[in-house]
Amino acid sequence: MKKQLLLTLAITGLGILSVTAQTKNVPSSKSIDEKVNTLLNKMTLEEKVGQMTNLTLDAISKTDASGKILEPHEIDEHKLEEKILKYHIGSFQNVAGHTYSREHWYQIISAMQRVALQDRLKIPALYGIDAIHGVTYTLGSTLFPQEIAMAATFNPALAYQEGEISAYETRASYIPWNFSPVLDVTKNPVWPRIYETFGEDPYLVKTMGAAIIKGYQGNNVGDKYHVTSTMKHFLGYGDPLSGKDRTPAWIPDRYMREYFLPPFIEAVKSGSRTLMVNSSEINGVPIHASKYLLTDVLRKELKFDGIVISDWMDIRYLHTRHHVAATEKDAVALAVNAGIDMCIVPYDYTFYNYLIESVREGKVPMSRINESVRRILHVKYELGLFDHPVGNPDDYPKFGSDEFRATSYKAASEAITLLKNDNNALPLKKNIKVLVTGPAANTMRSIDGGWSYTWQGDQDDKYAADKNTILKAIQQKIGKENILYEPGSGFDSLQDVNAAVEAAKKVDAVVLCLGETSYTENVGNINDLDLPAAQIELAKQMVKTGKPVILVMAEGRPRIITSIANLSAATVMAYIPGNEGANALVDILFGDVNPSGKLPFTYPRQANALVNYYRKNIENGNSDDAHGYNPLYEFGYGLSYTTFKYSNLHLSKPDIKDNETLTVTIDVTNTGSREGKEAVLLYTSELYASITPDTKRLRALNKIDLQPGESKTVTFKLNAKDISFINDLSQRVTEPGEFKVEIGDQTQSFNYHSSSNYQPDTNGKL
Ligand code: BGC
Repeated sequence: MKKQLLLTLAITGLGILSVTAQTKNVPSSKSIDEKVNTLLNKMTLEEKVGQMTNLTLDAISKTDASGKILEPHEIDEHKLEEKILKYHIGSFQNVAGHTYSREHWYQIISAMQRVALQDRLKIPALYGIDAIHGVTYTLGSTLFPQEIAMAATFNPALAYQEGEISAYETRASYIPWNFSPVLDVTKNPVWPRIYETFGEDPYLVKTMGAAIIKGYQGNNVGDKYHVTSTMKHFLGYGDPLSGKDRTPAWIPDRYMREYFLPPFIEAVKSGSRTLMVNSSEINGVPIHASKYLLTDVLRKELKFDGIVISDWMDIRYLHTRHHVAATEKDAVALAVNAGIDMCIVPYDYTFYNYLIESVREGKVPMSRINESVRRILHVKYELGLFDHPVGNPDDYPKFGSDEFRATSYKAASEAITLLKNDNNALPLKKNIKVLVTGPAANTMRSIDGGWSYTWQGDQDDKYAADKNTILKAIQQKIGKENILYEPGSGFDSLQDVNAAVEAAKKVDAVVLCLGETSYTENVGNINDLDLPAAQIELAKQMVKTGKPVILVMAEGRPRIITSIANLSAATVMAYIPGNEGANALVDILFGDVNPSGKLPFTYPRQANALVNYYRKNIENGNSDDAHGYNPLYEFGYGLSYTTFKYSNLHLSKPDIKDNETLTVTIDVTNTGSREGKEAVLLYTSELYASITPDTKRLRALNKIDLQPGESKTVTFKLNAKDISFINDLSQRVTEPGEFKVEIGDQTQSFNYHSSSNYQPDTNGKL
């Protein structure tokens, strides 16, 4: 249905659930190996290939004569039996265009497992879903801020908690497999999936990614409160040359290993059990056909032993889109030989038939099939599916609870980022009259984004009708009688802007909510990063009234706002803050919460000036940064209602060598008059290296809470690996030389010594 729409920290102790109580019966990998081998020995080729095939729920749903999925949704028992009993299909996913109640999910999963257990070998089916900011497709679930906003919290403990809650609610929907997190490092802000990522910095992406994976998986993915995560999209998906989704990228190996690979290395170490492949092509090689990335790098270097799943229809696309396979059958052999274990087909038996034929013709070795099926069965055992194919409805009393919602609210309140606050225009007083205007003011689509109730989030105002839009939250905060509301503009065209101008004359301040509606994937492609002209015009008209304009940006990527940014009294970046996001935003606007978010990406000044913060110093052959990097707001930028002073940056020694650790301390003091949180960010720069060093790189972070007047000493540890980079030979090295440490406005230097370049890993690559 999804695609049819197109045609029409180590953070233990923070857990909300009793993880330790769940860990008693973790099966050992060895005992699972034995069971898997026994099963594998009994399987026919057809049964094996069935396990490698993944179909969408549409394929087992009742339709009308035209093929449209019936509403209300019902499983088609006949189709289900054919899929499982005749073709032995082992895995299903997604939704048929709608959000379902927990009760309906119970019916779907029970029907599926009932039939799976009637098949000869009684192998339970595996169901997967994109629970990317909470369990997206279950009514009443807890929807969190999207990943980009989670990144803006700079607080991995919150990502961990989100992971735990989402896993609980996914299992409460009887689903054990989550297609999350997105670990793509995004370098091109035009790309429509930036909001699904943790931003532009490899360290931030890897840190938040590892935290959410640990939350999803707990200590035992097989217990009733945890799910397996899916690292996606391997590899280099976040940097399409054109900025359009699933379009070609050109990424040298060195660059790939420096920026895009580290989050996946960390995720494998954190125990993620499945991985989804990048739909696109890099250097002319579609990743679904890249033996180098899927086998040499992923299996041999990263030692990943879980399941590699294709993305949607992407094996077929090797033939129809990328033209690297002359037939669909060749495409199947190419992808499986490259290292793919499971294919999201997702409607028919083509993959199944072509793979069986290819094995019989000797084009795909049986050993390759056995390897994939072994991995798939292993994960099914790890997930506890053989013992408990369907969860118990009574086990999830906290589903959609106030306790869970409070965590989503907390995440939003730590994400929202204050970008400008002239003359303390914020916080607003509660005894004033306000005009609320702009296209994002009264729609949940801008608050929840894509992957909310539906793929594109286009039914959000219906499904999240009980949640607060920005308008509703402001009305609740200071009383409906003190609010005027005029949309003024849609996302792309003006709508009675005069009414908004007249209304502005009657109030004390204007809250102007601009940005984007919901979208994802190719539906979100744009040709121009500029905020549409209608919204800019509305802003200018509001400023002309002379009333203070509080500009709120609810958007998934940094649309260019330079022409109005200087005109607002204050600017607040809301990102896509999730179901509780409008409440958090309004608490910030009226001073009940002190903002502490920081930008997880560079906010460009112009649509053609797209340079990441860790740029080189030498753009245009000139070492003056302004020639290449002059963004509207830098990565890591964000204001507070209080002020913080950084002092006493201290390094434990002036020199380190080989395996030594440097201890870095800094004092941070709250010098203002209210409590505040501050993400303390440690950057390093290498002054000279064998390839041009990045200007600076984030190496560590710690978010702290300070009362007025309070000081805390923050301690970081740095070792040689932390300051390493990928050299010209694609090797990870730390080269001797002088390094600068930067925290806030403080800098210090140290020297790294080594008899030879330090290579942190034996093969030198990771
Ligand atoms: C997306 C993936 C998603 C999959 C299943 C694809 O189109 O690229 O991120 O997990 O669909 O919904």
